[in-house]
Amino acid sequence: MTEESLDPADWSAFRALAHRMVDDSLDFLQTLGDRAPWQPMPATVRDAISSEALPRAPQSAERAYDDFVTNVLPFANGNRHPRFWGWIQGNGTPLGMMADMLAAGMNPHCAGLDQAPKLVELQVIAWLAELMGFPRDSSGVLVSGGTMANVLGLAVARHARAGFNVRELGMLGAEERLTVYASNEVHSWAQKAVELFGMGNASLRRVPVDGEFRVRIDALRDMIAADRLAGVRPICVIGTAGTVNSGATDDLDALADLCAAENLWFHVDGAFGALARLVPALAPALKGIERADSLAFDLHKWMYLPYEIACVLVRDRAMHEATFSVTPSYLMDEGRGVIAGGLPFADRGIELTRGFKALKVWLSLKAEGVDKFARVIEQNVEQARRFAARIVKVPDVVLSAPVSLNIVCFRVAPPSMSPEQQDALNKELLLRIQETGLGIPSGSRIAGRYVLRVACSNHRSVWADFEALAEGIEKLGAELERTMSSS
Ligand SMILES: *Cc1c(COP(=O)(O)O)cnc(C)c1O
Repeated sequence: MTEESLDPADWSAFRALAHRMVDDSLDFLQTLGDRAPWQPMPATVRDAISSEALPRAPQSAERAYDDFVTNVLPFANGNRHPRFWGWIQGNGTPLGMMADMLAAGMNPHCAGLDQAPKLVELQVIAWLAELMGFPRDSSGVLVSGGTMANVLGLAVARHARAGFNVRELGMLGAEERLTVYASNEVHSWAQKAVELFGMGNASLRRVPVDGEFRVRIDALRDMIAADRLAGVRPICVIGTAGTVNSGATDDLDALADLCAAENLWFHVDGAFGALARLVPALAPALKGIERADSLAFDLHKWMYLPYEIACVLVRDRAMHEATFSVTPSYLMDEGRGVIAGGLPFADRGIELTRGFKALKVWLSLKAEGVDKFARVIEQNVEQARRFAARIVKVPDVVLSAPVSLNIVCFRVAPPSMSPEQQDALNKELLLRIQETGLGIPSGSRIAGRYVLRVACSNHRSVWADFEALAEGIEKLGAELERTMSSS
């Protein structure tokens, strides 16, 4: 019998390929700015990827890698680029890239177990808790993204406040509908979560916002009172630190007070906005975040680390574990050996087998120090303010929302055009900005009107990038205004 494995037959050939892979990746990162942020994929590329038959015979690692270099590497969505400002995406970092490689090389099973990677993750969680003003012994877990982090937080909220044994009985055990409150600017994860939990979309009460897109506390209080009268059971309020549309942050202190008075769980979605707490000048706007029962935030957005990584912190460790912990006999902590200490991370969420996500956070915090991240975050906020001031100097441009953090929403609104014509103009303008390689803002609707959105969570942007965008918008906008009003 010939025995084989997936290790290279020729280690020195593989080593040469591996070094090329690292060099190519770093070359690409070092010269990002020389290319357009995004380019449409030619038909040959689409075909090459989508019509390839299942490879039954080996092609060799070298050939497969060549296909990657030709057909995959140049055609990403653009978020690494200095002129990317779409949605809220991070850029990744070279050190984070290498950390992910090291983590894959170690390939530890990070449910827990008695190993250094477990200690690294526990330490990272303790550091993040300290940064967010949570007690150092708070519970937490690293997950794939803000959505998962928020879902876990809300699961703990439901377990804590359902008033019956929701783990045992499920939602059939509910005598009243359980309700959750968030502003109508809440991110779409919240709807997915209540649907997934079998609570239904009707359980997510959307509360109106004020002129700065912050949840209206008076309206929230009234909705809770009306719901209680109608025989439903409010369990949780979700506050947002940094809404995805405009970057608004709810009055978290007021929400914490209200939750304390109403005996509700206080969850904060701080997907990107929570990171503003690192900046002394920005932290006061987040006051109250440290009072949350649970807090979810991404590290792949405003901490710029490569996908995927986010964190949920839960103040009450026992409640966190009570929500998820299940210990079958084959996972019993024996007090000694590899399984000593059990599987703490499996007890804090849904996943059992997990990779070593913590390594990129640990290495990056140690390498750069927190203050470096704080400075780059503050730089992004300054860029947003400066861009807002610049873009309104372009004729007919108006801001569509106050710039409360790092997001600028605006539209070109020639008075000669109807609002619908303006919508069409702005949509076309956005697509041209993207397709000509000028940069990547994204679009959204605010108060029903189509807007362009420049979100600054990019550690690579410099002022010249914003200036180029503003000049491009002035030129393209004027062209479109001419062609579209004559048609
Ligand atoms: C991005 C975002 C999320 C979702 O996070 P993912 O990492 O994309 O899963 C949730 N809430 C807000 C406010 C966000 O900006």
